[in-house]
Amino acid sequence: MSSKYVNEVLADVRAKNADQSEFLQAVEEVLMTLDPVLKANPQYEEAAILERLVVPERILIFRVPWIDDKGKVRVNKGYRVQFNSAIGPYKGGLRFDPTVNLSILKFLGFEQVFKNSLTTLPMGGAKGGANFNPKQSPHTPGKRCSDSEVMRFCQSFMTELFHHIGPNTDVPAGDMNVGGREIGYLFGQYKRIANEWTGVLTGKGLAFGGSLIRPEATGYGDVYFAENMLATRKDTLEGKVCAISGSGNVASFAAQKLVRLGAKVVTLSDRSGTLYVKDGYTEKLIEAVMNLKTVKRGELSELAKAGKFFKGANPWQIADKLDCAFPCSRQNELDGKDAAYLVKHGVILVGEGANMPSTPDAIETFLKAKVLFSPGKASNAGGVATSGLEMSQNSERMTWSSEQVDAKLKGIMKAIHDNAYEAAAKYGKKGNYVVGANIAGFVKVADAMVAQGIV
Ligand code: NDP
Repeated sequence: MSSKYVNEVLADVRAKNADQSEFLQAVEEVLMTLDPVLKANPQYEEAAILERLVVPERILIFRVPWIDDKGKVRVNKGYRVQFNSAIGPYKGGLRFDPTVNLSILKFLGFEQVFKNSLTTLPMGGAKGGANFNPKQSPHTPGKRCSDSEVMRFCQSFMTELFHHIGPNTDVPAGDMNVGGREIGYLFGQYKRIANEWTGVLTGKGLAFGGSLIRPEATGYGDVYFAENMLATRKDTLEGKVCAISGSGNVASFAAQKLVRLGAKVVTLSDRSGTLYVKDGYTEKLIEAVMNLKTVKRGELSELAKAGKFFKGANPWQIADKLDCAFPCSRQNELDGKDAAYLVKHGVILVGEGANMPSTPDAIETFLKAKVLFSPGKASNAGGVATSGLEMSQNSERMTWSSEQVDAKLKGIMKAIHDNAYEAAAKYGKKGNYVVGANIAGFVKVADAMVAQGIV
């Protein structure tokens, strides 16, 4: 049971955002864990922190017109949700996907506020994107958009977004379907309009201000977080059998790090299905997956011969015995039934790499079974943390070595782990990283908001 204050704010959010299920889910998940800290700090209620936290500071919605390869004019909807800038400039990724809508971007922006706070770096929270599908050409069924179509789309998107971002205002990054290629096109257009070279985007190519280890950071960070959780039980990843979902940026680098640490990765997946490799993916096979997804831009089914391919299936109910699961694909991809199967088949750790991949009943199942469960806002924060390191390098006009960035990433993931662990213990929920991450992320933002007055 939550307090009267939390219930009142939640009722108001539900009434005003009835059609935004993902946003409501994210808000409920956070607010329902904050009672102990709200009770101990009455100044938060007095300053209406929750009422203000659940409303983005600014939402931009704009037209993105572009011309396809056949000369036809296409129009998409672009967004930027600038959620909270109490502790630093807005920071958060851009997602290009036909499923993009305000509910999804508000949920992602809201999560980002807490995640960025957890990183210990000065970054506010934002998210953006467009309902543009680079994986489906608008004129040829079954074909992807060409590079020049993606470029024209990115240029048009940035021509509007340009007015609302800047290195001290809002620094976007990549997210689903926005990788190095898209960031390059977006950066090129920003630089052209602004007539200045600034670190206004992160995830840039190494030749123009990108940070070493940024592509690896979210997946690696997820695995480092898992190592820290296991260490609390004097255990390691060595020999652990792991299922991963997704085969994109987060999933593939999580797989690579796990294999390098001696774990056995048995699944990766995409929209075509799951590729199960009983004896474990080799580094070579993971590289082939990376090449398939980022260069050839194909489907995992094309590598079916490397193992057993389960068409259209997710990875959670395939293996007979598993130790760890890393959902690294998308929101709500792991439900209560999947969670029950995983617990029954031996899972002791779930490390969310994606944002909100486990449904609320799945999380409840994991927590009840005392599974080491890390919420995405804590365990996937390595990506945005390394984006923060990219911003620092850009400001300093310096580049740090892979070893330097990786060491900082490891340190940040340990700090996030320890903060979440200690916050949970302090408020009577030892081992509950959901509560710990929410409280640790919240306190810093709330204190900054109180100090800055009613704005
Ligand atoms: P990518 O686009 O690189 O990869 C996404 C993966 O998920 C792909 O394998 C994709 O398959 C699969 N996928 C997407 N939708 C579906 C679906 N409906 N059914 C089955 N599979 C699907 O994205 P990222 O790896 O960058 O991001 C993954 C998650 O991690 C997202 O939740 C993102 O918000 C989160 N995240 C990412 C960060 C980053 O640094 N990249 C940072 C923090 C969080 P297919 O190739 O077939 O589309």
